[in-house]
Amino acid sequence: MLMQDKVAIVTGAASGIGRGIALAFAREGAKVAIADMNLEGAEAVAKSIRDDGGQAIGVAMNVTSEEEVNSGVEKTVNEFGRVDVLVSNAGVQIVHPVHEFPFDQWKTMLAIHLDGAFLTTKACLKHMYGQGQGGSIIYIGSVHSKMASLLKAPYVTAKHGLIGLCRVVAKEGAAHGVRANVVCPGFVRTPLVDKQIPEQARELGITEEDVIKKIMLNETVDGEFTTVEDVAAACVFLGGHATNAFTGQSLIVSHGWCME
Ligand code: NAD
Repeated sequence: MLMQDKVAIVTGAASGIGRGIALAFAREGAKVAIADMNLEGAEAVAKSIRDDGGQAIGVAMNVTSEEEVNSGVEKTVNEFGRVDVLVSNAGVQIVHPVHEFPFDQWKTMLAIHLDGAFLTTKACLKHMYGQGQGGSIIYIGSVHSKMASLLKAPYVTAKHGLIGLCRVVAKEGAAHGVRANVVCPGFVRTPLVDKQIPEQARELGITEEDVIKKIMLNETVDGEFTTVEDVAAACVFLGGHATNAFTGQSLIVSHGWCME
């Protein structure tokens, strides 16, 4: 058990990658707060963990709201007594070419990905520093933290930005034993990606099959999607590691799409 008795908060954990990370953490012995703006979905994931003998709670949290982030972190600490690991995972995707990108949608994207990462980090650091036993902050970036694609200006901008936030948290957190990392997945077949396939096909004037083969998986070494389990394994490794050895770094999980 790599995370025995650690307390973890995973945002956006009602679905997809976050859900997979929460389930993997629970299997490794962690007590997990499933934080999501979809409370019903969060409660369902928490219940499935409890039904399997683990400990988990659902927490209502829109990561763009400082009030909801703070109260969600407080609820977790009230329930489990502390917080050791934060996975800042909540995210959405909106695609348009830059010259047509609606400004309100640009701001929504940056608020969820960057404000959300900042607010959850700030709220958890307060506890991690106070507890005096270190901690782990993991940002779910993307291959788009390292490279660009058509139509994804705010997503690519925000995912690159997480690398900067991670490096600052790694430097500031070091004195308190708090480490920070970015996990950068390639395409994972989740609702977020399923929504993009027809959108990209329409925007680029190609078939959905070609979006998958020629855009999403073309550069992988094996033509395979990255899986939720691939990403969760990287988070268990980083969240469960005891020292600062890996702090500040990003780990790309993309079936060879990006080897930077
Ligand atoms: P998903 O749509 O399956 O799940 C996203 C979850 O985030 C949902 O439960 C949703 O309710 C929640 N959420 C959205 N906005 C929120 C907000 N403001 N506050 C709280 N919760 C909110 O998506 P996913 O594919 O699992 O994506 C999770 C993360 O992984 C995102 O940050 C995404 O950018 C990143 N990512 C995904 C892929 C991929 O291919 N799926 C690849 C690289 C990175």
